Amino acid sequence: MPSKTPAKTPSKSSGPLSGTNGTNGTHSAKANVVVAAGGTGPVMRRKPGKMVYYFGGERTEGDGSPDMKQLLGGKGANLAEMTSIGLPVPPGFTITTDTCAAYYKAGMRLPHGLMNECHKNINLLEKETGKVFGNNQNPLLVSVRSGAAVSMPGMMDTILNLGLTDTSVEGLANVTGNRRFAYDAYRRLINMFGDVVMGVDHEKFEHEFDVLKKKYKATDDTEVPEDGIVELARIYKDTYRKFVGDEFPQNPFKQLELAIEAVFKSWNSDRAQTYRRLSNISGLNGTAVNVQTMVFGNMGEDSGTGVAFTRNPSTGENKFYGEFLVNAQGEDVVAGIRTPKPVAEMPKWNKKVYDQLLQIKTKLEKHYKEMQDIEFTIEQGKLYMLQTRTGKRTGFAAVTIACDMVREKLIEETQAVLRIPAGDLTQLLLPSFDPVAKKVARVLARGLPASPGAAVGKPAFTAEEAVRRARDGEKIILVRKETSPEDVEGMHMAAGILTSTGGMTSHAAVVARGWGKCCVVGAGDLHIDAKAGQFTVKTDTGTRTFTKQDVISIDGSTGEVIQGPVPTVEPKLSGDFSTVMRWADKYRQIGVRTNADTPNDAKKARELGAEGIGLCRTEHMFFEGKRIKSMRKMILAETVGEREKALNELLPYQRDDFVGIFTAMKGFPVTIRLIDPPLHEFLPHDEKSQAEMAKELNVSAEKIRQRVSQLHEMNPMLGHRGCRLCVTYPEILVMQVKAITQATIECVRSNIKVAPEIMIPLVGTRKELEYLRALTEETIAKVRAEEEFPKRLDIKIGTMIEVPRAAVTADEIAQCADFFSFGTNDLTQMTFGFSRDDINTFLPDYLNKELLPIDPFASLDTGGVGQLVKMGVERGRATNPGLKVGVCGEHGGDPKSVHFFAKVGLDYVSCSPFRVPIARLAAAQAALMK
Ligand code: PEP
Ligand code: MG
Repeated sequence: MPSKTPAKTPSKSSGPLSGTNGTNGTHSAKANVVVAAGGTGPVMRRKPGKMVYYFGGERTEGDGSPDMKQLLGGKGANLAEMTSIGLPVPPGFTITTDTCAAYYKAGMRLPHGLMNECHKNINLLEKETGKVFGNNQNPLLVSVRSGAAVSMPGMMDTILNLGLTDTSVEGLANVTGNRRFAYDAYRRLINMFGDVVMGVDHEKFEHEFDVLKKKYKATDDTEVPEDGIVELARIYKDTYRKFVGDEFPQNPFKQLELAIEAVFKSWNSDRAQTYRRLSNISGLNGTAVNVQTMVFGNMGEDSGTGVAFTRNPSTGENKFYGEFLVNAQGEDVVAGIRTPKPVAEMPKWNKKVYDQLLQIKTKLEKHYKEMQDIEFTIEQGKLYMLQTRTGKRTGFAAVTIACDMVREKLIEETQAVLRIPAGDLTQLLLPSFDPVAKKVARVLARGLPASPGAAVGKPAFTAEEAVRRARDGEKIILVRKETSPEDVEGMHMAAGILTSTGGMTSHAAVVARGWGKCCVVGAGDLHIDAKAGQFTVKTDTGTRTFTKQDVISIDGSTGEVIQGPVPTVEPKLSGDFSTVMRWADKYRQIGVRTNADTPNDAKKARELGAEGIGLCRTEHMFFEGKRIKSMRKMILAETVGEREKALNELLPYQRDDFVGIFTAMKGFPVTIRLIDPPLHEFLPHDEKSQAEMAKELNVSAEKIRQRVSQLHEMNPMLGHRGCRLCVTYPEILVMQVKAITQATIECVRSNIKVAPEIMIPLVGTRKELEYLRALTEETIAKVRAEEEFPKRLDIKIGTMIEVPRAAVTADEIAQCADFFSFGTNDLTQMTFGFSRDDINTFLPDYLNKELLPIDPFASLDTGGVGQLVKMGVERGRATNPGLKVGVCGEHGGDPKSVHFFAKVGLDYVSCSPFRVPIARLAAAQAALMK
């Protein structure tokens, strides 16, 4: 390790900024968080108006605290933090995210005084490095990079080698003794600056390079001699002038100013906005800009660059994991243009640097107590750290790392629980390929297992094609040579991502892992021809071509690319997964139930830890086999007698279903909701199906058509559904309650523990519930008499709160309910007045324009719908203190919503079986964060 420990106090030799930038002699890594005089808690020492924070040996003004991350972005805050703990970081400075916000507020104009502050900080850098910006002897070069508070891989802009001009390029040539290298750096700057800052198409430069390569008979960039590269820099300047209409700026400060502005602008580029939308990132200030002394990984065979994780981000294994490229610049690794070597091979190249990296791995993990994702560069044998941040990882890795770190005594059990993103547990519950089927499957190629999962689909060769075909309902594997930030929408829509180049830290790998999407990268045997819409691969039986018609399977856990569809099997849960679940159950304070309609689902949910059924949607039971026929007879019935006859046919099916579910739930509560959807949903709407139905029921097609038209409503979701059906047709309620009671008695008689709860949907007034409750109680009593069952039956009767009026009058309704269950799907629909079935016609616009932070049907609108929930709980319990309250809308499995439900005092949440572990973990996190 280098002994370069940065100064903790301002430099004695007074630099241009000494005493003016708010640092003092007590600076430490956490010095920006100080306790207020009154001792009330931490207050950030954030100097109003301060736009630039320096990091380096001269002084370090920021740190890695959460507040500083907001202000300096993740990259900037961690550069400061790494500098403070003595890691070898090239010095630089960070322009704050507040400055970016100010830039937009001022109509996209850089704030007054910013360039002045930059000037002073450049002077400080010059002092520290002994180099001079734009100098013809020993020029200071800088990189200019974006960095928001939340990482957005590759979404915003970067400019390298800034500060090179016609004058300073000669200085660089002198000081390095390598003219080719200096001019190569210069032409890269002109290209990047032209492309990123001035919007000149990168292809224009590429084209010129291709022409030049022909002239020098070179196939590879590296074969072009020094003279050629000098000539190329001149050609690039011409290209720049041609498309920009102006000379390439020869004033380095002008370059800096324009580059800073370009980074600010990239915050709102289409691709950055899309990424934020797809990743649910909102409410940020903007991006910070990091201006940092350049170090070069492309200065020869003793130089290189790499990216690594302190542990395996895919499996969580505690092993230094990453890749590097010799004689290359950092962007080459991330862009996936060249396939790098695994770091395990580094000792063969430079053992000293490898050992130093291992020491840094340990130091970083001890310091951050988290798995880190690092970027480093080796310039002529000397290692520099360019970035560290919390590493994105798969759900598998999150669980393994959290458990390992508890075992290693790096973190506490509660930290482990808090650290695993609850939603990521889904990945552990996804099916994987059936190993037996895979044994006989034909493996076409092998790549790197970038993000686990099993994806089956047909190839799409561009992101747009993937989006279009996925929208049409096809399962797509996005097949690309490499992906770039423009591809994110297609990547998001695809079932899996496959690339032929790039490593574990390429764009495709990082983004897919962040989303938990199956991804295989660097499958070099695939020859992809995106234009022709095909890829070819050599097999034992000759070269095979795959087009968009062919199904392929990719295994993100092994890296295999397989011909045809491979069947999948249910996951086996690891020991660490149960450990995490055990910890979660220890800390959570609310119950977790499931929404299940079949004994199978109920069993699955029990295995995943559900403590009961919070919603059994009985209408789903009316669709299977012969039942739909009886259901349709019931709907067509013209008299009560006819209706009862049809319902009697349904009764045994319902009873048997309930016996199955009660048995699977072993005494845990089972909330059965009475029929809910409008009746038209049970009838066919097209002529052909109506004719078939007429034949089957022996009625005229006309009768069916008439009934369909009678049942037609303008707004069926606000129409004749829920409890309103049983008000009109009480015999439906009677049949369902009869089935529930008979099933209960049957189970009790067979010594099976049962706890049934009858739930009446869509109640809006106390009188509705009163009327239907009376009918329910009367039916239970009748069945007991018929069955000669003298013992008391504990069947609870409650209601769903899904109409806003029910929430507002919950005090009245609670007087005739044993329990409430919030149906937040309908409650959201009726509170916003958004149709839950049609919201997609306008939701994307609302999300793009940030009029809504997230789809309110996916994550509870706590400020509106949530307030109705809160009111419903409070008012309900005010008149019925023993009232049990839960939620059974989709939000019951959404971690953020679970936090809210726990806060407002719900007894339990109920969600689909596969979300049960997520809800258990989220509930524990809610309790621990209280
Ligand atoms: C609800 O409205 O939240 C609910 C659970 O009922 P459904 O989705 O069946 O309307
Ligand atoms: Mg509902």
